[in-house]
Amino acid sequence: MTRQFGDKLMFIGGEFVSSESGEWMDSINPATGEVHGRVPAGTVGDVDRAVKAAQAAQPEWAALSVLERGRVIRKLADAIRERVEDVRPIEAADTGNTIASLSGDVHLAAGYMEFMAGLGMELKGESVPATPQNIHFTMREPFGVVGRIVPFNHPFLFAGAHLAAPLMAGNAVVLKSPDQSPLSASIMAEICRDVLPAGLVNIVSGRGTVVGDAIVRHPAVPRIGFTGSVPTGLAIQRAAAETSVKHITLELGGKNPLIAFPDADPGVIVDAAVAGMNFSWSGQSCGSTSRLMLHESLYEEVSERVANKVKAIRVGDPLDETSEMGPVNSAPHYQRILEIIESAKQEGAATLAGGSRPAGAVFEHGYWIEPTVFGDVTMDMRVAKEEIFGPVLSILKWSDPEEAVAMANATEFGLTAGVWTNNINTAMNTVRKLDAGCVWINGGGRHFMGTGFAGWKNSGLGREECLEELLSYTQSKSVHIIL
Ligand code: NAP
Repeated sequence: MTRQFGDKLMFIGGEFVSSESGEWMDSINPATGEVHGRVPAGTVGDVDRAVKAAQAAQPEWAALSVLERGRVIRKLADAIRERVEDVRPIEAADTGNTIASLSGDVHLAAGYMEFMAGLGMELKGESVPATPQNIHFTMREPFGVVGRIVPFNHPFLFAGAHLAAPLMAGNAVVLKSPDQSPLSASIMAEICRDVLPAGLVNIVSGRGTVVGDAIVRHPAVPRIGFTGSVPTGLAIQRAAAETSVKHITLELGGKNPLIAFPDADPGVIVDAAVAGMNFSWSGQSCGSTSRLMLHESLYEEVSERVANKVKAIRVGDPLDETSEMGPVNSAPHYQRILEIIESAKQEGAATLAGGSRPAGAVFEHGYWIEPTVFGDVTMDMRVAKEEIFGPVLSILKWSDPEEAVAMANATEFGLTAGVWTNNINTAMNTVRKLDAGCVWINGGGRHFMGTGFAGWKNSGLGREECLEELLSYTQSKSVHIIL
């Protein structure tokens, strides 16, 4: 039977409230397809209430010293870590991510808070010798109210991590939870209620086209940080441009290549290819290395071994600690992934593993797809070009390094890439030619706090997880003391 989580309210002005509409949205358990909770269907009016609460709370918060703000944000991090066992089941049930993977999400959310809290003194300006007789300097100030909109795949992690920089910079935040997995936001709200001044963080649930759009268009929200898909990122840029001049950063999708050169160890590539797909989140990660690009000398052996390893993945109830992969997150997403799988078969890709709904009574309901591997994929196929955001790995073959780079760059995306070779010249020649915001040599997937995570091309705008992110939540003011 589907475990029930009940009704989760929105969090505005330090209080748990329902929507002025009185309407609710169902949250579906993707493993069963059944309703397991509800959140209020927020409105434009609810967003306005949240923005007004944020406006009221922000000046006092910004007036604290950076050390004091840092102290409070560290308390937030501690409170997040204390709730790890509450977050894991609700997040696993709501997203379909395996419960075993979710401690990592909670600790990472807390880690971003601690990282940003430690950067407080970097919110500094510069002294500029523009003239010999006067004093010229810059200072950084918060925007006021920041809007943050997060996707369905790691809602708790993103809610926490994405509060860190705007808060540390002295802003208040209105956060929109994703409508496909909105439930864990209630735990983040409880943590904020216990640690932060009322109104500093507000969490509004509801449709992206209503609540998300209202945040973007609100005249008192000059700065928006968005994580999600390219089409929504473009819609946000359009909506903002129709309203006023706004500061927007976008963390969008990826179609990330893992490029293996002939000198790479086949066993190491097999492990990296499977780990890089993030099957514990059903491949639903912007950073999944969904294009495995093998040199022709590696192709046969590595393809076969990858397929065998993927076939052995234990698909099952995301709430079971031993499951290695759960369902995908929602019915529309499930349908789209199946459609792309079908297109791959029709366009001539070879099904090396999976490719269907898994068999068995457990998988009769809900949104289950076998972990899938396609071989003989070429860059003219839909499966190679579109972000699938699901458990589908494409394997491509190349013979010449220039061809590999051209294939790697032949999508609208430019988020991450992995280059596997023991030759540093080969590695660096390739890295320089790749259109991607993050590149690993003999590695992949792992984020290194402080170094920045960002996409090129349609994968994004602005860098996160680094000092640049913190500074991007401030605006600079030039001051001239005329002597
Ligand atoms: P999405 O459909 O773009 O939705 C993301 C968020 O935007 C949701 O909260 C959504 O609300 C909201 N939204 C929808 N339409 C909106 C509008 N017109 N104005 C304002 N907000 C709107 O993305 P998703 O399907 O949740 O997430 C998957 C995507 O996120 C993938 O493309 C993935 O690569 C990307 N992603 C990128 C990163 C990164 O760091 N680069 C990390 C994780 C995920 P509703 O849920 O109510 O529709």
